[in-house]
Amino acid sequence: MGRGMAPRHRELTLAPRRVYVSPMTTSCIFCRIVGGEIPAEVVAREPDVVAFLDVQPLADGHVLVVPRAHVAAVEDLEPAAAAALFEAVLHLAGPVREALGAAGTTIGINNGAATGQTIPHVHVHIVPRWPDDGAGSIHTIFPRKTRRPLGEVGAAIRQLVG
Ligand code: AMP
Ligand code: ZN
Repeated sequence: MGRGMAPRHRELTLAPRRVYVSPMTTSCIFCRIVGGEIPAEVVAREPDVVAFLDVQPLADGHVLVVPRAHVAAVEDLEPAAAAALFEAVLHLAGPVREALGAAGTTIGINNGAATGQTIPHVHVHIVPRWPDDGAGSIHTIFPRKTRRPLGEVGAAIRQLVG
């Protein structure tokens, strides 16, 4: 080291170990589906997006649409990946509804662990709906605990949107 200086990097005491990091060895279950490493009922494969059936469907035809690139939150998607993702949702919504003879679809994203997102790889849920299916609208998941006036909230958001 010279001149009695402490080493800039601590020496490893563990035995050296080769670590291979690739999409095929990741622990993310959706990356592994995208990579074909684990099976899924795939309904669409596109250059930037894969869509497959949810393994625990909320209804028949419950589809998950995922970007091929591993990104946890919507706001971290590259614009091109976001565009490809929504375009795929656009292409799939009609066929999913028609294939199941549904009346409509609820389309949603749990964005962040606090919202109930259990797999930190962005995924859009497309869930076929029927008038008598017993489920509610998106509004039914919120107890409507608002505290601030609309104008104040709008101004706060506009300031950050720029
Ligand atoms: P979320 O709560 O928004 O993160 O939703 C994750 C969804 O992924 C759940 O609806 C799970 O049923 C679904 N899921 C988990 N593992 C798999 C898998 N191996 N194949 C298909 N869907 C899965
Ligand atoms: Zn992933």
